[in-house]
Amino acid sequence: MCSCVRGSRALPPALLPRLLLPQSGFRLAGRGFWSSPRGLAVSGDPQPLPVPSQARVVICGGGIVGTSVAYHLARLGWTDIVLLEQGRLGAGTTRMCAGMVTVAKPLSIECRMANYSNSLYEQLEEETGVQTGYVKTGSLCLAQNQDRFISLKRLASRLKVMGISCSIIKPKDVAKLHPFLNIHDLVGALHLPADAVVSPPDVNHALAVAAAGRGVQFLDRTSVQQVLVEKSQVTAVETDRGSIQCQYFVNCAGQWGYELGQASEVKVSIPLHGCEHFYLITKPLQEPLPPSTPVVIDMDGRIYVRPWQGGLLSGGFEKNPKPIFTEGRNQLEIQNMQEDWDHFAVSVRYYRTPLPSAVLNVSLIALTPFSNVSTSRSIGIQSNAFS
Ligand SMILES: Cc1cc2nc3c(=O)[nH]c(=O)nc-3n(C[C@H](O)[C@H](O)[C@H](O)COP(=O)(O)OP(=O)(O)OC[C@H]3O[C@@H](n4cnc5c(N)ncnc54)[C@H](O)[C@@H]3O)c2cc1C
Repeated sequence: MCSCVRGSRALPPALLPRLLLPQSGFRLAGRGFWSSPRGLAVSGDPQPLPVPSQARVVICGGGIVGTSVAYHLARLGWTDIVLLEQGRLGAGTTRMCAGMVTVAKPLSIECRMANYSNSLYEQLEEETGVQTGYVKTGSLCLAQNQDRFISLKRLASRLKVMGISCSIIKPKDVAKLHPFLNIHDLVGALHLPADAVVSPPDVNHALAVAAAGRGVQFLDRTSVQQVLVEKSQVTAVETDRGSIQCQYFVNCAGQWGYELGQASEVKVSIPLHGCEHFYLITKPLQEPLPPSTPVVIDMDGRIYVRPWQGGLLSGGFEKNPKPIFTEGRNQLEIQNMQEDWDHFAVSVRYYRTPLPSAVLNVSLIALTPFSNVSTSRSIGIQSNAFS
């Protein structure tokens, strides 16, 4: 198998998905490069904006969580908000995200959040003029055994109570919805017709544009070094470009969240550690998959598969994920990571799509950090569906 794949470093730029292009900066999908609106200093600007001496709220982290917090606070009428990003906006995990927006979540609160995210992303392009890659694909959660089938039925009942459309379907209906799925020995599936896919860096960009339009100030290439506290109250944030007095500080540093908590004057313990996460992208299939092909979530096989530029993007969550950056600081640039087919083979074994043959055309196997919290759920726009 190894002989037929190439590592991400060897991949020609044309084949790299935009979400993997570290140097791409922000752009309006399909509309050329974007010039930053007032308040949004981004890579490519000759000088970063000066750091203000004070703000009401300082947000650390320009990934999808930080930009979303900025957007929502601004929409609620909060003013005097500054977002600080050590690299470029969206250069962290968000850049690697597969972009599946699904309500298939273990907790009701997560289902509600995912449902809300879906509605937000659906109208974000209209609000901001930024293309977000939003496509309503629907998704199929497969049951390979009776226990899983019962748990999907329970999920369906919960979703129906929340007013979220879904149905339990038979294997022959699964085959009608997805051209490639092997339905042999499948017990059934949960169909979620409103689930969607997005381009996460573009959603990140759109949220930043919308927040900047409402007065939030964005500063990239500005690293938070310490949070100062007096009588249990945040008083200021020290950065590598000066300090900012503030009333509120929001830690949206993703996989750096733990380090940042430890860097506070009063240490905050954030139970989160990065793990390796493998996914692969096939070349376009001979008969390219329509972009509206449903996402497949196979909780028993611990894999997901989404349509990707006429082919497939698929990742797996092994039972024994490998922790990453166990020594030293988390890295922002991750191109030196090594692919590990032996480890990923555990996931590949479960493919119900024709990946065994499509794998011959795999253009990339990527290895990216994935933030895991101690409950084994990821945090972010949504937690993953495989917990
Ligand atoms: C391969 C892959 C596939 C995924 N697929 C999905 C999916 O389909 N659906 C889904 O919902 N989720 C998915 N996820 C999870 C999702 O990508 C993350 O939950 C989400 O991107 C986390 O966003 P974040 O803003 O918390 O973190 P990040 O995007 O990592 O942002 C944190 C930011 O904080 C900045 N920062 C850190 N420390 C400092 C500091 N001291 N000073 C200044 N800035 C700092 C970093 O530079 C970074 O930009 C996937 C993840 C991966 C890796």
